[in-house]
Amino acid sequence: MAGQDPRTKFSNQDYPKQEQPVPGLQHKLEPKPDCGEKSYEGHGRLTDYKMLVTGGDSAIGRAAAIAYAKEGAYVAINYLPDEQQDAEEVQQVIEAAGRKAVLIAGDLRDEQFNYDLVDQAYQALGGLDNVTLVAGHQQYKDNIKGFDTASFAETFETNVYPIFWTVQKALDYLQAGATITLTSSVQGYNPSPILHDYAASKAAIISLTKSLSEELGAQGIRVNCVAPGPFWSPLQISGGQPQSKIPAFGQKEVLGRAGQPVELSGIYVHLAAEESSYTTGQVYGVTGGTQID
Ligand code: NAD
Ligand code: MG
Repeated sequence: MAGQDPRTKFSNQDYPKQEQPVPGLQHKLEPKPDCGEKSYEGHGRLTDYKMLVTGGDSAIGRAAAIAYAKEGAYVAINYLPDEQQDAEEVQQVIEAAGRKAVLIAGDLRDEQFNYDLVDQAYQALGGLDNVTLVAGHQQYKDNIKGFDTASFAETFETNVYPIFWTVQKALDYLQAGATITLTSSVQGYNPSPILHDYAASKAAIISLTKSLSEELGAQGIRVNCVAPGPFWSPLQISGGQPQSKIPAFGQKEVLGRAGQPVELSGIYVHLAAEESSYTTGQVYGVTGGTQID
């Protein structure tokens, strides 16, 4: 057999209950998600690309950043200052693979920081060919009355506003052939009532994928989006899910388990690489089986 059984390729056993404050830290998460530190192998699909990844310290963003670097890219990584240790782990993996990783800490809810981030990435990398926005905020509430202004504002300020700010600034640098990759969620299609604000923000990202792709296609810039299902990550155990849902997280999916971030690496690479040159305005579901439409 050439292919591995997708149901058992990674653990389908219960996860231990555990709780962290926001932002959840990968180095404290048990078990550690597989972000391709060892398991991802590059094939020169992004040689010398200059790429900026937000949320690149942990889980899904870490998997994208590591895969990009192993494919030959130079990568700038944004994360929150509290996540310095996680970011340095990623830098070490990337440097061990013989590539350059630039770490730029800062809060994407700060408008000016978004412009500075894109400028710094461009300067440090000597160009910019892709912006991959993975950073996100997710806090469940028991019901609609639990969603106070501060919490739903933080969700939209983290998940939606930075798309405008980073893309606006990046257009000073991106040229025809460049790409933008956004990160939505299965929640953007199938919203859970405990995640009203998060799901709505992820639906907004699907909308922005379509409208941005239409505007920027005329400049030769492609815009696509990844919509993950349940992936084992620090987001889930830092208020993203109720503790009661942690042990069996992902087990209701068709494939019977949560995804590991490395299972998204290939999609992020594909959407930035030449091989997807006729793909724009699309949302790729990587869900373990749940339909997105
Ligand atoms: P994660 O906690 O590893 O990643 C979230 C990252 O967002 C953090 O590492 C942090 O660096 C960044 N972030 C949060 N607030 C920020 C702020 N104000 N400024 C700058 N950075 C900030 O968890 P993850 O699961 O890998 O999440 C990554 C993305 O994937 C998120 O957008 C999330 O919504 C999305 N997603 C995750 C799942 C899942 O099941 N894990 C499913 C669908 C979508
Ligand atoms: Mg993190």
